[in-house]
Amino acid sequence: MTLLIKNGTIVTATDHYKGDVLVEGEKISAIGTALTMPADRVIEAAGKYVFPGGIDVHTHLDMPFGGTTSTDDFESGTIAAAHGGTTTVVDFAIQYHGQTLHHAWETWMKKAEGKAAIDYGFHMIITELTDQVEQEMDALVRQGVTSFKLFMAYPGVFMLDDASIFRALLRTGKNGGTICMHAENGGVIDVLVKNALAEGKTAPKYHALTRPARAEAEATHRAIALAEIAGVPIYIVHLSAAEALEMVTEARDRGLPAYAETCPQYLFLSYDNYEEPGFDGAKYVMSPPLRAKEKQDQLWRGLAFNDLQAISTDHCPFCMKEQKPLGKDDFSKIPNGAPGIETRMSLVYDGGVRTGKISLNRFVELTSTSPAKIFGLFPRKGTIAPGSDADLVVFDPEKRQKLSAGTLHMRVDYNPYEGREVIGVSETVISRGRIVIDDGKFVGKAGAGSFLKRAIRS
Ligand SMILES: [Zn+2]
Repeated sequence: MTLLIKNGTIVTATDHYKGDVLVEGEKISAIGTALTMPADRVIEAAGKYVFPGGIDVHTHLDMPFGGTTSTDDFESGTIAAAHGGTTTVVDFAIQYHGQTLHHAWETWMKKAEGKAAIDYGFHMIITELTDQVEQEMDALVRQGVTSFKLFMAYPGVFMLDDASIFRALLRTGKNGGTICMHAENGGVIDVLVKNALAEGKTAPKYHALTRPARAEAEATHRAIALAEIAGVPIYIVHLSAAEALEMVTEARDRGLPAYAETCPQYLFLSYDNYEEPGFDGAKYVMSPPLRAKEKQDQLWRGLAFNDLQAISTDHCPFCMKEQKPLGKDDFSKIPNGAPGIETRMSLVYDGGVRTGKISLNRFVELTSTSPAKIFGLFPRKGTIAPGSDADLVVFDPEKRQKLSAGTLHMRVDYNPYEGREVIGVSETVISRGRIVIDDGKFVGKAGAGSFLKRAIRS
């Protein structure tokens, strides 16, 4: 199968120019002007952008949490991702207490196999660090699971103490893996939650009010300090607070390899959403929580100046009908998470590029190139170049879309951006040379996605 994308504006993290892209089999084989090679399919892209496929390095598909499971599995979730211009996801396998990392990996590989419509990789969540688990980390790195997520929050469930965190960091110094950190001070938050509940404060907004920005900033600072002592890089996941960003910026100014991602919800939604009537605030219960609107400009500044290197989604949908009400009388029992895998590219283009907050090249860098580089997928993924996987998005920068749970493809009964209009829509999406979205319609196949063996950091 050969594809020829003609007359588009090809956009990478560094350049944009008019040109044609030839795809042969699974790879990009040529870029040029006025290419005339015969192709099985010609896609006319005049007036459109051609982006490298989006890479979302933070998703939770088919994930058990808080007595229920995120509603998108690897089939529905990756199809929704493709609709939104994302062609690679890196999801999280979870080691539960008493289990081996290998068992966790196999469990998540089974969840994805035969279901994922686009390529996928895994980070490994470590909740218990024994000597044996340390050795398993090395084995997983060799098998292409080259990043590990640790939690400084959720005591008794996911949280690791500082000594375990430090040991894991040291281990990545030897095996070339990368530690990703959920940075919130779980002990402090637990006390605040208990106090709030004791005072009868049970509404969804108390989820946010018991997770202060300073608790995120403190943990971010501590995580970076532990990595500095260990002499290794660190990647902070879903950074939401400007106060936490200050810690990352300070570290980077000192030349430390500290990295962080943020997510669209922290750029486009705010604490005000928790004040919506009735139980509607539960739609936005996620950790860390949404922050004050006035602080969003600081996140945009961090994105523009490379103190934040990636935009991922933390996609983790739970329905308002049956799942979120688990916390109807106790905000701490509301399943944490919200949908976003499908809306990332359009939201960031519309709210970031069109408003002039970030450049077109920076958009590609944040949504594809930089996550590919940090997580060992570059140059196979994350750019448009001969020899790279033909993961491509033909993006119409003028097309309008009204975001709504009724028309989006994520398997969840609400959308946090319901009714918001975005300008800029992924029209045709190609995954390893196969068209998966054709003029807005899914034409791919569940199970066509492959497990990505990722490289160690260089
Ligand atoms: Zn997450």
